[in-house]
Amino acid sequence: MADFHHKKSLGQHFLKDKNIIRKIVDLAEIKSHESVWEVGPGKGILTEELVKRGIKPTCFEIDNTLYDHLEYYFRNSINLVKQDVLKADWEKYLPADKVKIVANLPYQITSPFLFEVSRFADHFSKVVVMIQKEVAQRINAKLGTKDYGILTLKMQFYFDVKYEFTVKPHVFNPPPKVDSAVISLVPRIDKPEIDNEKYFWKIVETAFRNRRKMLRRNLRELISVEQIEKLQDSGVIDLTRRGETLTESEFLQLYKSIRNLK
Ligand code: SAM
Repeated sequence: MADFHHKKSLGQHFLKDKNIIRKIVDLAEIKSHESVWEVGPGKGILTEELVKRGIKPTCFEIDNTLYDHLEYYFRNSINLVKQDVLKADWEKYLPADKVKIVANLPYQITSPFLFEVSRFADHFSKVVVMIQKEVAQRINAKLGTKDYGILTLKMQFYFDVKYEFTVKPHVFNPPPKVDSAVISLVPRIDKPEIDNEKYFWKIVETAFRNRRKMLRRNLRELISVEQIEKLQDSGVIDLTRRGETLTESEFLQLYKSIRNLK
């Protein structure tokens, strides 16, 4: 594959450093009988480490110029899915047992991919991914910081999140313009039970719609002015606060109070 041209549009920054590959795979704590997904095998540096450890990974790759190489090199030691991972029918590839995800993600799909992972959170036992450092910081953000937002709440709602380590650009070919980071996600055992998760996330999204505005203003999109007043009078949450100041449990209280209005 000497004549391979990296496609920036597909986030093709291939890892060169095998120590980092080993560290990523070690973090996933994979046993040889476990099911593993890799997103974007590229030329297969991470795939090779998985195969070496007795895994037959399911690898989603969008770039058809890589298929011949991957098929020749790995033959039937991987399941190659020749598709955009965001368009693939995940249910078709999810086995009965839990799956681990290990990937050096193409950065332009990080958020949509992780939102999709959260939608299927019950099917995964651990997710170890390399992403942009800035996104890793948002996922791992603390309340009240500028990084705290929907991505933070969503990932921390479904997973115990850990920022594992920072990775500098020079270990990639070609090097990206920004620092990267490896994070791990393990499904929470204490995930809050909600009867209508879709509506809960609608409230969170509405609360963050305009970060500078108070909840009282943002919520107008969802409920009437009279309902907002009723909510304010109930004293559950001070609606002069802004969304970015609310913890998960305060959002849950807000959700319950709004549901009770209806
Ligand atoms: N795993 C390799 C490594 O670590 O060197 C390559 C990682 S590279 C950052 C991202 C890979 O994802 C590329 O091979 C790219 O073609 C592939 N890719 C990009 N968008 C994709 C998508 N939507 N679905 C599946 N693969 C995708």
